[in-house]
Amino acid sequence: MVRMLLVGPPGAGKGTQAVLLSKAFSIPAISTGDIFRANVRDETPLGVEAKGFMDRGEYVPDSLTNALVADRLSHDDCTSGFLLDGYPRTLDQVRALDEVIAAQGHQLDVVVELTVDPDIVIDRIRVRATEQGRTDDNEDVMRNRLELYARETAPLIQVYGGRQILVSVDGIGSIDDVTGRIVEALGLRGLRA
Ligand code: ADP
Repeated sequence: MVRMLLVGPPGAGKGTQAVLLSKAFSIPAISTGDIFRANVRDETPLGVEAKGFMDRGEYVPDSLTNALVADRLSHDDCTSGFLLDGYPRTLDQVRALDEVIAAQGHQLDVVVELTVDPDIVIDRIRVRATEQGRTDDNEDVMRNRLELYARETAPLIQVYGGRQILVSVDGIGSIDDVTGRIVEALGLRGLRA
């Protein structure tokens, strides 16, 4: 039973690790980026509203994102824990998430920060742009997302650090190495699969 978050810049490998950790800990991986992309693809009202922000590399407004996550965390599969990937990304989202979890009578166990060198991040996003054809993976949009991360999301790391629930893990290396490091760091905090 683990309630955790993954934080890190775009291209840090959060999505990849989220899938593996979700299996290892038998908890659902909830990626706001994936949920938004599915809504854009299906042209739902949420997708129509989110698309412009995403294509420009901006954050979808907190009101929309917070409502989406609150709804998702109310599903039965989240009662025994969850892993959030790509949320929260703003201080307002941190506050909203705290409220949702507290209302359920729980608290966040751990926040895993994936650290990567900015040059490596840019290379990875370039590769992903070619492989997956994401419309938000072009050069200008990518810079916008990295800047936005530094300005809006990096401050969250201090907040969670202050709560003593932050674990920083080196995101450079093979996928399995990184998963191994995360599992080990969680184990040291008594969080086991
Ligand atoms: P990456 O990890 O590469 O930044 P994501 O797949 O997590 O990409 O997110 C893609 C886009 O979806 C973001 O650039 C943003 O527009 C939107 N998005 C995802 N999560 C959030 C969030 N928590 N708050 C606001 N917008 C979000």
